[in-house]
Formats: sequence, C-alpha cells, structure tokens
Amino acid sequence: PLVTDTPLPLSELCASINDRVTTFLELPDPSPRIKAVQEQTRIALGVISDALDRYSLKEVSLAYNGGKDCLVLLVLYHCALHRKGLTTKSTSTDTHEPIQSVYIQSEHPFEEVEEFVALSVKQYSLSLLKYPPPMKAAFANYLHDQPQVKAIFVGTRRTDPHGEHLKHFDPTDHGWPTFVRIHPVIDWHYVDIWTFIRHINIPYCVLYDRGYTSLGGTTDTHPNPALARQISTSEVPTLDSSNGGAVNGSRPVKFRPAYELVDDYEERLGRDR
Ligand code: FAD
Ligand code: MG
Ligand code: MG
Repeated sequence: PLVTDTPLPLSELCASINDRVTTFLELPDPSPRIKAVQEQTRIALGVISDALDRYSLKEVSLAYNGGKDCLVLLVLYHCALHRKGLTTKSTSTDTHEPIQSVYIQSEHPFEEVEEFVALSVKQYSLSLLKYPPPMKAAFANYLHDQPQVKAIFVGTRRTDPHGEHLKHFDPTDHGWPTFVRIHPVIDWHYVDIWTFIRHINIPYCVLYDRGYTSLGGTTDTHPNPALARQISTSEVPTLDSSNGGAVNGSRPVKFRPAYELVDDYEERLGRDR
C-alpha cells in the first residue's frame, strides 16, 4: 500500500506509484471513459517531463492544499520523477531532498483538510511551507524565502474560475509575484480526477466521502446539494454534519460521495460566493 506506518523512501514510493500509473495506462479494453483519462494522464506526464527538462528540482515547487486536483498532480509528479530517473542521488551519502511545496492555509481550515495535508507531507516526502492568506502576499513571501523557485505546479482545471485561457505553462499575471505556473491537469474534467484517484487507489481527504466536492474554509464550504439524498429518519443514526448527516428543515439529509458527481459545473455548488 502507498500509505504505511513507516513512509517509503522517496525512490521506492515513486517506483511504486509508477507501477500503479503504468498498470492504469495499460488497462486492457478500456472504456471510452477510461481511455479519456489515460490520454489526459499521458499529456500531464508529458507536461511534467517538459518542466523537469526546463527546471532543476530546486527551481520547481508544487502548490498543495490537500485537494483532489493537486493530489492527482502530486502523484503524477512522483511518477514523472521515477520515469526521468530523478529519485536517486549519485552518491550514497546524499539523501534526496524532499519535494518542495507550498500551502496557503485557509483562514478557517477544516481539521480534516489539515490532517490530510499532514498525512501527505509524511507519505509523499513533502517539504511543505505554510503561509497565511491572502494568496498574492503568501507567494511573495514564499519566493522571498525560496528565491531559487522559478516555477510552481498548480492543479487548476479549465472549468475553474480563471481557468478558461490558461496553457500548460503561463507566467503569473500582472500584479502577482513573478514565476511560471505549470498546469499539467488543466484539461482534466471533474470525473477524470475521480476516475484516476479511484483506479490508482490512493487515500484522499475524508470530506470528499461526505459530499464535499470543492474544499474551501469551514465558513464558506458545505456538502454539495447536488449530492443530497433524502432518506427516512430510521436510516440516520446521528444528525451531526461531521459524519455526513445534516439537518435540512426537519428532513434528515445524507450526502453521496464526491466521486458520484458528474457535471464539472456542479462542483462548486457547495461553496458560498
Ligand atoms: P482549487 O481547485 O481549489 O485550486 C486549484 C489549484 O490551485 C490547486 O489544485 C492547488 O494546486 C492550488 N491551490 C489552491 N488553493 C491553494 C492553497 N490554499 N494553497 C496552495 N495551493 C492552492 N490568479 C490569477 O488571477 N493570476 C495569477 O497569476 C495567479 N497565480 C497563481 C499562482 C499559484 C501558484 C496559485 C496556487 C494560484 C494563483 N492564482 C492566480 C489564483 C488561482 O487562479 C486560483 O484562484 C486559486 O488557485 C484558487 O483556486 P480555486 O479555489 O479556484 O481552485
Ligand atoms: Mg480544484
Ligand atoms: Mg480552492
């Protein structure tokens, strides 16, 4: 398994992820759905590989907030590191530097998100720096602390706000700290992300199993109403929102897991604003 009490050394982890990704890419008789994700996986691996030709490991970082999209990106990054032979150092005394990453902590973070980020740090050998919002200032501070970073992987997709015109490589916009954004999963759809995560069989933040489809802070994020399922009172052991039950008027509501949503444009229905 990828999650173990004693995390795997980076080289073994990357090899193990590469095995799973390769198995996924070689699934026999893929359905059109699987075929689409296999194709997106190849494209994303190609973009990451390009990035690793352009930049050294010290010059790249990953924007990671424990969400499903950057989780996919993180796994593909490990796979690409293995494929490019970048997971072992030439001298045995040299331990490999962990993977640089940056997290802008929400003002009101979910405990479950914080826990998943902490788990990711351990399991995926992340060297994660955390900053308070707002994002622009946070990245200015990050670059101040890590001035060698030239490019940052971001898990933005086409259907996200501001995602429409992005390419695989984009300099930041005017007014943002200067670096290159790398978007390997830009053309993945919501369902592609879940198809991949479930096939590769990696842990993800528990909130997704409680009907959350897009994670923000506790004050602006709710389970997605498109996943609400009315059930009879007898089926609901408890009504507190922490285990997926919620009270809607007097009718108990349970939520189906995030991976059952299909439409890209319904992803943010559980978010305020
Ligand atoms: P999400 O799906 O939540 O996020 C998409 C991806 O952004 C995630 O997969 C993750 O890689 C990253 N991300 C999101 N939130 C965080 C966080 N709290 N900490 C770390 N990573 C996070 N906007 C502009 O208009 N112009 C820019 O030049 C610009 N540059 C950016 C550079 C970086 C590195 C990042 C992370 C964001 C930048 N943004 C920029 C903001 C971006 O457009 C989104 O508004 C922002 O990522 C929030 O994403 P979301 O909640 O819409 O989607
Ligand atoms: Mg997203
Ligand atoms: Mg977000």
